[in-house]
Amino acid sequence: MKWTAEAEGAIKKIPFFVRKRVRSRVEKEAEGEGKPLITLAEVKATQARFLSRMETDIKGYQIETCFGASGCPNRAHAGDGLMQKLEALLAEENLLEFLKKEVKGPLKYHHEFRITLADCPNACSQPQIKDIGIIGACVPKITQNPCSQCEACANACREQAICLDAGLPVIQLERCLSCGKCIEVCPTGTLEAGTRGYRVLLGGKLGRHPRLARELPGIFSEEAVLSIVKNCLSFYRLHSKGGERFAEIFTDKVFEETAATCRLIEGIGDGCKKG
Ligand code: SF4
Ligand code: SF4
Ligand code: SF4
Repeated sequence: MKWTAEAEGAIKKIPFFVRKRVRSRVEKEAEGEGKPLITLAEVKATQARFLSRMETDIKGYQIETCFGASGCPNRAHAGDGLMQKLEALLAEENLLEFLKKEVKGPLKYHHEFRITLADCPNACSQPQIKDIGIIGACVPKITQNPCSQCEACANACREQAICLDAGLPVIQLERCLSCGKCIEVCPTGTLEAGTRGYRVLLGGKLGRHPRLARELPGIFSEEAVLSIVKNCLSFYRLHSKGGERFAEIFTDKVFEETAATCRLIEGIGDGCKKG
């Protein structure tokens, strides 16, 4: 749908955490009224309606994904199935009731628990600043197929994580972000997809005291991600008081304990390559 420059300017002034919702609502409402063009008047009308309905719109959580599913060529691991399961899990948890009991005064969007999924390390859906951020991963594996020494893998790697040594590829796993790009360009099958799954980041937030989420060691299966999310939600329910965000209660000590558990539990971080 087309937007006037004035309308685009107005939407940019809306706080980023509600901008996407307001934008899609403006378009939906304009479409419903048969308007082909979004002007400043449409933005203002929808914005007023949106803010007055904020409390009734709050569901206790926000979950989003990058636009990988719409055909992005960078997807390292498609998380469509996981998204549906996460949505179901969050709905089942009924965080809205929990927040209603905990928060004094009206509920706001910033109270909601946030999970986001990005299908590759480009992280377009900003997993680093969410309570739980999930990133699709594809770990390269070196096979017995002879390498032609074309160096396509080294040239494709933006992390300088792969090089040739004595005619063979060598991967520095501590630099590798599991984007899978080297696998795509290898013409001989010397590199192939090893473990596919998800990286998991916990405890990110913006606001007055922002912090970046920290990454658990390992690449996790769908099942393991769901188990981690479930445990995080139990922890949140147990320790969050008065609407505290997960990042505020998920201290460094708790993170280290969680990371240690991930290293210990066999299978949970299948293909664990870090930490
Ligand atoms: S995070 Fe990666 S897969 Fe998702 S939209 Fe961005 S570039 Fe594409
Ligand atoms: S998976 Fe990505 S980051 Fe890792 S070595 Fe290959 S291209 Fe580099
Ligand atoms: S892209 Fe494949 S064939 Fe070419 S140097 Fe890398 S591992 Fe060898």
